[in-house]
Amino acid sequence: MPRFRTIAFLIPALLAGFLLALPGTTWPQAETPGAPGDPARAEVAPVPVPEPTPLAVQYHRTGEWLWLLNQIWAIAIPGLIAFSGLSSRIERLTRSLARGNRAGTIFLFIAAYLALVFVLSLPLAYYQGFVRAHAYGLSNQTLGRWSYNRVVGLGVDMIGSGIVGLIAYSLLTNSPRRWWLYLGLASAPMLALVMLIVPVWIDPLFNHYGPMKNAELERSILDLAGRAGIEGSRVFEVDKSIDTKTVNANVTGLLSTKRIVLWDTLIARLEPREILVVMGHEMGHYMMGHVIRTVALAPLVAIPGLFLVNWWGLKLLGRYRSRLGFERLSDPASAPLLLMLFEVASLILSPPALAYSRAQEHDADRYALELTRDNHAAAMAFVKLQTENLGVPRHGLITQVFRASHPSLGDRIDFCNSYHPWRGDSAPRAFRARGQEAGVSATMEHIAPGT
Ligand SMILES: [Zn+2]
Repeated sequence: MPRFRTIAFLIPALLAGFLLALPGTTWPQAETPGAPGDPARAEVAPVPVPEPTPLAVQYHRTGEWLWLLNQIWAIAIPGLIAFSGLSSRIERLTRSLARGNRAGTIFLFIAAYLALVFVLSLPLAYYQGFVRAHAYGLSNQTLGRWSYNRVVGLGVDMIGSGIVGLIAYSLLTNSPRRWWLYLGLASAPMLALVMLIVPVWIDPLFNHYGPMKNAELERSILDLAGRAGIEGSRVFEVDKSIDTKTVNANVTGLLSTKRIVLWDTLIARLEPREILVVMGHEMGHYMMGHVIRTVALAPLVAIPGLFLVNWWGLKLLGRYRSRLGFERLSDPASAPLLLMLFEVASLILSPPALAYSRAQEHDADRYALELTRDNHAAAMAFVKLQTENLGVPRHGLITQVFRASHPSLGDRIDFCNSYHPWRGDSAPRAFRARGQEAGVSATMEHIAPGT
């Protein structure tokens, strides 16, 4: 998903980000391990967690420093714009352009602010998204396409953030004491709306989403979906190969726009059985209603986050009013200050949100294994996710706490090697019982309207 950074100001798009970037797993057809001497017998043996290559270790370590730099940047830039008085000057300019119209001022201010941050961040974005990705052999993008994605992303950001800004400032004006609570509560319907429109209005601006090209593979996937209890499922193939060499899959959308998306890079690099395990993982998200649960839980992150933003904002405004150059938080010039504080609050609130996401991902992995019973292909899919995406198998402490939306690949491979209750070595937690139970609501809430 392109830069929805500013929408994250009001909606925990953090959570949306998790959902939109869900790494896939695979699900293969359930097969009985072969007789002794059969190649299938080797598949019962655990799959070793691969050692990361020196290049992957370097990519990971430099990536951690870059992450830190990005965090500092995301707080420092709006802070600088607010405390230098630039924000209040931009507001005066946009107010005169909008001829005093408040909604027009808010919209223009947000557009001008985003354009300014876009320009200031260009060198860092170019290095990260283009130079570095090519240097590590992870990108296929041309400079033209990279630029196109950035500019279109900025346009989407301006429109989306402008709308969210209008809602936020309307609440700030009409309910200065409780705006954070109302906006926090509104984050669930707002996020639901974003999830609903992203697959049909936003994603196609960047990539082509179409039916699967491999009809045989598609049939296997639909068979699997049928076994999982998903009728009339929508599976899309996206041409990510024009952007990246990395592999992935995800579930996206809500209600009638809900779908499973397979990257063409994943289809090219993984074996069909491995792809099926990935699909089983995505079907687990689908059947267990993870998207709707995340949407419903968004206020749990948004309300305390916005409470902190309001509290800190009032304190800073009381102390630095003359430097900031505005009188109230409901003044559109407050946006950079509020965004800066939201970045800080997001960082503080991210550990529990990420822990929740990791738990969902683990459940989806379990679902994929129970559905496919193909431990070997599942483990191999994660091995390929590690090698193809230049990953490392274990998280460091900072990554684990502040960045990891998924369990580490090493942990996932270990789980694939050890979780096989159907072999009679532990109490089964059959997906059917859990799947059917969860599937009733999932089917009613998400699948039925589209079928
Ligand atoms: Zn997932």
